[in-house]
Amino acid sequence: MKTIIEVKDLKKDFYVGEITVRALKGINLEIKQGEFVAIMGTSGSGKSTMLNILGCLDKPTSGAYLLDGISMGELSNNELAALRNHKLGFVFQSYNLLSRTSALENVELPLFYNSKIKPKERRERAEAALESVGLSDRIHHMPNQLSGGQQQRVAIARSLVNDPVVILADEATGNLDTRTSYEIMALFQDLNSKGKTIVFVTHEPDIAKFMTRQVVFRDGHIIREEIVSKQNNAIELLNALPLEELY
Ligand code: ADP
Ligand code: MG
Repeated sequence: MKTIIEVKDLKKDFYVGEITVRALKGINLEIKQGEFVAIMGTSGSGKSTMLNILGCLDKPTSGAYLLDGISMGELSNNELAALRNHKLGFVFQSYNLLSRTSALENVELPLFYNSKIKPKERRERAEAALESVGLSDRIHHMPNQLSGGQQQRVAIARSLVNDPVVILADEATGNLDTRTSYEIMALFQDLNSKGKTIVFVTHEPDIAKFMTRQVVFRDGHIIREEIVSKQNNAIELLNALPLEELY
């Protein structure tokens, strides 16, 4: 399988006043097309820092990062922004939807950066993305008229609409109850079964069981890596939830 992400001896320092925080201390990581990778570890271990660099939202202090064969180190900020809009999809813990625009407009947003896409195609693609997450009947709702799980579905539709090479998710189930978390994981598993590469940050070991590989961070290092031989199936777990979990 093709390598989508390659990271070599990557380090990240933050400078806060007089203090230097070493958030990443030499990370080596390779992710192949079609993998569903859990980035695990306790709070402060460097997971979000790693994901932000993978997402071209932040730059490393040193080391190399290749995304789909392109070396990030040599790109300007404009080029990085373009790459972000063409190759990446993002899902965050707090959904990060624009509150004054509808579900449909939120999902259309990443397509505005591609001037070749006309308004009609933009709308059709956003509608199709919302349909794929089961929200055809909510496209004109505003974020505050949607439940947490529905808002996260909108965010997933937004992350898909530009057909990215990789989806990056940071604690995407962190604000959701068990049932809704499993529903969201069922969506991610479905996407992965159709070939989408996903990198998913979580501090919850139960959530990481839905993925194909686990990479554990501690204090800026990778301390353990493991292929998951038998992934949990989110649909099966949903069906097995006791009734009281409905309320
Ligand atoms: P995690 O997502 O695993 O909880 P983070 O990647 O957010 O961890 O943080 C790793 C370390 O880097 C922490 O010690 C945190 O305080 C520090 N850190 C993260 N972001 C910044 C920042 N923007 N400025 C300064 N320090 C930061
Ligand atoms: Mg974090």
